Amino acid sequence: MNTRRDFLQKIGGSVLALHLAPLVAKADADRVFEPSYAGPVLRVAICGLGGYGTRVAEAMQACVKAKLVGVISGTPSKIKSWQSKYGIPEKNCYNYENFDNIKNNPDIDAVYVITPNALHHDQVLRVAKAGKHVICEKPMALNAKQGQEMVDACTKAKVKLLVGYRMHFEPKTLEIIRMRKAGELGKVRFFQGLCGFKTGDPGQWRLNKELAGGGSLMDIGIYAINGSRYMIGEEPIWVTAQETKTDPIKFKVGVDETIQFQLGFPSGATASCLSTYNMNNLDRFFLTGDDGFAELMPATGYGPIQGRTSKGELTNPHITHQTVQMEEMADVILKGKQPIIPVDGNEAVKDLKVIDAIYEATKSGKKTLISI
Ligand code: NDP
Repeated sequence: MNTRRDFLQKIGGSVLALHLAPLVAKADADRVFEPSYAGPVLRVAICGLGGYGTRVAEAMQACVKAKLVGVISGTPSKIKSWQSKYGIPEKNCYNYENFDNIKNNPDIDAVYVITPNALHHDQVLRVAKAGKHVICEKPMALNAKQGQEMVDACTKAKVKLLVGYRMHFEPKTLEIIRMRKAGELGKVRFFQGLCGFKTGDPGQWRLNKELAGGGSLMDIGIYAINGSRYMIGEEPIWVTAQETKTDPIKFKVGVDETIQFQLGFPSGATASCLSTYNMNNLDRFFLTGDDGFAELMPATGYGPIQGRTSKGELTNPHITHQTVQMEEMADVILKGKQPIIPVDGNEAVKDLKVIDAIYEATKSGKKTLISI
């Protein structure tokens, strides 16, 4: 488990690096470690106690601004073990049938939806109706239409909708964005995003169109889409895409194995990206402008993220992504803080519009225009 002590040890080992690191990294380190924090705390119930839910719960143990206080699960044995591990009272435990009752629970502020993709839409609508803030995992929905309905439902219910874009708080990522905004890369021309891994068990929900909504693009390619947008700092206006499939038994109709796609931006900058479930060692972002470049590799894993720019190696400290994400999201929800890269539902709808356009372009073989 990552604790604040672990965090301090990591920081301590790189004191020099921290002194030399850009301000954004220093600010980030400060935000994670606030032992004397006495402000409001976001009380969170996790919905879906699977692999990633477990990782978030562990990371939240180091948070001071967010606290795990409840669960929603279809597996009674998991509820029991989470109760004893995290001290969760019986009154904060729900299943998928009765969690609408959370509206009557004053001890829960927000629900973090971490279930298979196809369940997000309905679950987020129900949480909003119960009057609780929502954090939803990526992809927020299966398409932009669903995504917009979720944004509208949360607006109507006057609750916040955030999406688990953990890279939006990652120090090396933020340093590249700072450099680009400061003009240190010159006019930005090109981004490359390579995202993929060889996926395992053919029976998993990620390879089931009904639950996943697609294939690699929904799961891992979305990092390249989102990364293109925040690295270049513009919204794409056209998409071209090509799908290839080497294993139609494992990757059935509607479940993409590999998609290469290209995005065009208003300034003339372009992006070229690869999303796959059938190649390893693919986790790289590369951004180049007239006066410099930036590279992250690994770019989106749990870390440590590593990178360099035309100015040298990036030395910003490694942080536990989910700890910082939850600290920051507590500030966004409770204090109205504006993150450097947005993490709200509208941000997710933009990614979903690009996903819709990529799937359309793989079918038509034509350039698809988009308006974001
Ligand atoms: P898992 O399969 O590990 O867990 C999903 C959990 O959802 C299950 O354990 C189960 O929990 C619950 N669930 C409810 N209904 C179903 C169903 N019909 N089939 C399967 N599970 C069900 O998935 P992950 O935790 O890896 O992924 C969940 C979400 O998190 C996805 O949207 C994924 O894209 C996202 N994710 C995000 C990551 C990130 O870095 N931001 C990383 C990994 C995943 P229970 O038994 O409690 O009901």
